[in-house]
Amino acid sequence: MKARVIPPVLAGEKISALAITEPSGGSDVAALTTTARRDGDDYVVNGSKTYITSGLRADFYTVAVRTGGEGAGGISLLLIERDREGFTRTPLKKQGWWASDTATLYFDQVRVPVENLIGAENQGFAGIMRNFNSERIGMTAGAVGFSRVCLEDAIAWARERKTFGKRLADHQVIRHKLADMYKRISTTQAWLETLAWRIQQGEQPIAEIALLKVQATETLEYCAREAMQVMGGAGYMRGSRVERIYREVRVNAIGGGSEEIMRDLAARQMGI
Ligand SMILES: Cc1cc2nc3c(=O)[nH]c(=O)nc-3n(C[C@H](O)[C@H](O)[C@H](O)COP(=O)(O)OP(=O)(O)OC[C@H]3O[C@@H](n4cnc5c(N)ncnc54)[C@H](O)[C@@H]3O)c2cc1C
Repeated sequence: MKARVIPPVLAGEKISALAITEPSGGSDVAALTTTARRDGDDYVVNGSKTYITSGLRADFYTVAVRTGGEGAGGISLLLIERDREGFTRTPLKKQGWWASDTATLYFDQVRVPVENLIGAENQGFAGIMRNFNSERIGMTAGAVGFSRVCLEDAIAWARERKTFGKRLADHQVIRHKLADMYKRISTTQAWLETLAWRIQQGEQPIAEIALLKVQATETLEYCAREAMQVMGGAGYMRGSRVERIYREVRVNAIGGGSEEIMRDLAARQMGI
């Protein structure tokens, strides 16, 4: 299965999607309800997923399904190809992330061969959590990059724009905004680099990764807000990079584990 699926995806010839979230909720992954019932050499899948990135155009879907009892111990991961009978999709419109499509998926008696099981049966939850760690690090790096663009554009504007006889950058209130953005970005980047190094050494600092994602999305939210404030009307107009980034703020704070869930996960890992 790896040989069939991974090379064309890495080559950009095929697209893959990860389908975990359901209409009944995304935060409580262990409560998912899409079922895969064993029938001979197949699983028969029934249920629905939503907010799935590349949900419309993907060729391969890694789908979290319930193969066992309640809770985290009853979850497996199945590879489902787009052309399986009974598998349909509808598009969703969203605030940002326009570069990818997002969809709701429906599985109605979809037969999937048992060879499509990824990993061991009922062991899917651990795989989902492992994947989240790298997704969260990636989203953090993205948020730091977006924040840097906001700072860069705010500084450029503050240097050029004049109000009340001097440059915006010469008003102390504006200078402090820019310094604060730089402070928050720098601390987030430093923590990101430390954790990236520790992960490369073989560590899995789950709590810190979760909290770093919160730190990064709060930094992004602050920088997008303050950059637009510094730029005034110009920042609000389509064509401004800050306006574009502003539309990406919320999805970063919700997707890949929301800020609330990240804090909760970290607290549990800390033994609180
Ligand atoms: C653009 C986009 C793309 C996405 N792509 C994918 C994808 O490719 N694959 C995929 O599987 N999912 C995807 N998601 C789904 C995303 O992971 C979920 O939206 C997220 O996990 C939250 O789930 P939910 O929206 O169902 O909110 P819910 O779980 O219903 O939670 C609603 C709110 O309540 C808060 N909350 C929930 N429980 C608690 C609690 N115990 N304590 C405090 N607060 C709580 C949450 O933080 C959230 O703010 C995507 C979402 C978006 C917006």
